[in-house]
Amino acid sequence: MGQADLGLRGGTVHLPDGTLIEADVLVAGGRIAGIVAPGTGEAAESVDVGGLTVLPGAVDAHLHLGHGMNIARPRVPDDAKTETGAAATGGVTCFIPYIMSADPYLPVFDEIIGITEAGARIDFSWHFVIATDAQMAELPTLIGHGAPTAKLFMNIRGDEGARLGLPGIDDGFMFRLLETLAATGGMLCPHPENIEVAWVLRDRVRAADPEGEGGLATWNATRPPHVEADALARACRTARVTGAPLHAVHTSSAEALRAALAERAQGSDVSIETCLHYLTHDETSGIGAVGKVNPPLRAPEDREALWTALTAGEIDTVGTDHIHRPVESKEGGIWKAQPGFPGLDAFLPVYLTEGHHRRGLPLSRLIPLVTSNPARRMGLSRKGALRVGMDADIAVVDLHADWTITKDNLATDAGFSIWEGQRMGVRVVHTLSRGRFALRDGALTDDSVGQGRFVARQLEGVPLSHAAP
Ligand SMILES: [Zn+2]
Repeated sequence: MGQADLGLRGGTVHLPDGTLIEADVLVAGGRIAGIVAPGTGEAAESVDVGGLTVLPGAVDAHLHLGHGMNIARPRVPDDAKTETGAAATGGVTCFIPYIMSADPYLPVFDEIIGITEAGARIDFSWHFVIATDAQMAELPTLIGHGAPTAKLFMNIRGDEGARLGLPGIDDGFMFRLLETLAATGGMLCPHPENIEVAWVLRDRVRAADPEGEGGLATWNATRPPHVEADALARACRTARVTGAPLHAVHTSSAEALRAALAERAQGSDVSIETCLHYLTHDETSGIGAVGKVNPPLRAPEDREALWTALTAGEIDTVGTDHIHRPVESKEGGIWKAQPGFPGLDAFLPVYLTEGHHRRGLPLSRLIPLVTSNPARRMGLSRKGALRVGMDADIAVVDLHADWTITKDNLATDAGFSIWEGQRMGVRVVHTLSRGRFALRDGALTDDSVGQGRFVARQLEGVPLSHAAP
């Protein structure tokens, strides 16, 4: 091996098989060039990471990169600059936002890549929300362009999608969409809610609590777990009969989890994602309308059921569902507040503080769910593992930190976090995207802006293994 560009020296390195070894990581040409005995191998620059843990950078397969109050798509390079800054702060080195529109995507495909690449500090790909027949007809081409994952809002029936500018769909649309995905190498990411039942419940709950005094519990009661589970079961069953894979996004409740696992047992190729906030918060968390999200924060028992499933290897991935609307979007109480909140800045610190420090799970259990599993499931063949030849996307973390999340240490332009005030035992020290520092010694670097690139994905077509750890 010739001289590497960079050596991360003296750290504890997390290998793809889950073992931790004392090693130096060498980077050349943006790829991992070697994982070698400490002090060996030549590098033009060496950085001492003694006492720190070297992880593959996190892959967040669920977020929304929008502009101001609009979560449909990025509009200016600064949208990517701030939110990839949030990602690097949280140890995320690649993410896949959902792009949403009622219009065809191909006419704007290159434009949104260009806008995003101009500001991005890390690599990214896209999922597209499919809501019209014209968009469905574009799918083979979108898949050919490296965007093989389609989101379906199962809840946009009738006028429900008007808030997002989308027309209504039905189960026949979902059936045809899954057939198309099965035929063209794609995968469905459904937002599962039986909205017809939720409408009935919303009217009842609203009549009983018109001022929204019940806060998050009131919101949960308008679209409870059975609403999520019913739609998820339907989507998984339809995916099975059409032969398409399905990624169960933002699974929030024990009941939805059971529905997905039952379908998996029937042969459905379903991977299960939960989100960070369902692992740390519930309807009793006392954060008010700031915590309004869809699906809602659930009961404490749901949160514990998710941890049990995660520990058992039944949950495949953890994402953020990051939305960077400003904090003003949360005003007006539980009925008026917009759903969603940012999560990228806090990602690895919160996940590892809760999972590793508080719950005692080994890194070998936790890390794949935020690195190799989403990378493999989403077709990011060069991301998610520290292995020679992979992209040098790396998060170097201090597992023995003690700090508190405040507004001041957030990079998202949303300017708030549901974890504000919480003490963290883990801190991201360095984040590298293809061998370049996006975050160095805890500070975002200026020269990382505009270095992120669109990554074309191709699904492997192989279900994830669910063998017990
Ligand atoms: Zn989302």
